[in-house]
Amino acid sequence: MVFRILRPDASTVWNDEEILKRFSKYRGIIDGTRLARYLIAKSIKCNFNIIDPIETLEGLLKEKSIEFNEILDEDSLDLKNRVVQDSNYITLAETIAIKYLEKCIFCERQCEANRISGEKGFCLISKDSYISSAFLHLGEEPMLIPSGTIFFQGCNFGCVFCQNYDISQAWKEKKNIEDVAQKVNSLSLAGIAEKSVDKGAININYVGGDPIPNIHTIIGSLKFQKSNICQLWNSNFFLTDKALSLIIDFIDFWLPDFKYGNNQCGKKYSGVDNYFDIITRNHKRIHDEGSGEICIRHLVMPNHVECCTKPILDYVAKVLPKAVMNIMGQFRPQWKASEYPEINRRPTSQEMQEARDYADKLGILWKLVS
Ligand code: SF4
Repeated sequence: MVFRILRPDASTVWNDEEILKRFSKYRGIIDGTRLARYLIAKSIKCNFNIIDPIETLEGLLKEKSIEFNEILDEDSLDLKNRVVQDSNYITLAETIAIKYLEKCIFCERQCEANRISGEKGFCLISKDSYISSAFLHLGEEPMLIPSGTIFFQGCNFGCVFCQNYDISQAWKEKKNIEDVAQKVNSLSLAGIAEKSVDKGAININYVGGDPIPNIHTIIGSLKFQKSNICQLWNSNFFLTDKALSLIIDFIDFWLPDFKYGNNQCGKKYSGVDNYFDIITRNHKRIHDEGSGEICIRHLVMPNHVECCTKPILDYVAKVLPKAVMNIMGQFRPQWKASEYPEINRRPTSQEMQEARDYADKLGILWKLVS
């Protein structure tokens, strides 16, 4: 296949014992020796009524998460024989997600917009989801390609240096979303995912913009997807604890950003409060309670090695030992970065070297995936 010529590291990365060990479950799904989590979740029966109070449904979700994690310990091949239930853990999570849409709390902006009735919060996404593109991505980290990447239009962040500003920010000022993106529902999104599988994808990669405003559509699509394929969450990770509870058991591989090593830089450049506190809470949760198979992306910013890169690397080394890191040097002063002189350039080679040396000193696994 052409990607093996363009990216030989997609094969050689698996020669590394530590990569194989840290991503053994993901590798098992690729090899067909393990089941993707969402397929197992479909076999967990849930008796509920959509008019049940939200607290009742949230309580049931917690119970089903415990049941799910007990089942996960069983032999994966035996799990293939489990029967899909009409009312299951995924339909329960989707029902709760749709209820949250009435007072949106998907991300920590907690706008509480009633997206069902047409109100929009900061992300400007209504109850409908839109994708700007979907294709087999050969530019992701080597263990992820070819990746069935689905780019959602819109974002809950407002990063002044956004590297994807055309689909996350710029359209908000100029264009109607219908003019720039394709509307999808759960069924059509599942169709797009399945088409990626047919083309050779080894994961379904939800990205954007950001997938967070579209949690309800993504969970809903899992009802219709059928292939044994890794589900991958590629996000700024600024979702609420409640929103994370909806997906934590269905996602096999996590690809979260870790942008800032403190709250102040998060406020200044992305316009969000409590960035570091929220991101570390979510990272720890997927590490300890979720699949634990995580590649953290950190974009090194000019003049931010001391205040952001080093505290992030310290945190990862101490609290997230199973994670690998992509230490990225692709920062460009895009979108509105020129209004901030301290970040209005690319990182220097000295800054990149300092970041990499510091990661090495802490024993972080980054070389093969950066
Ligand atoms: S996803 Fe976040 S930004 Fe968008 S409406 Fe919901 S709470 Fe607001």
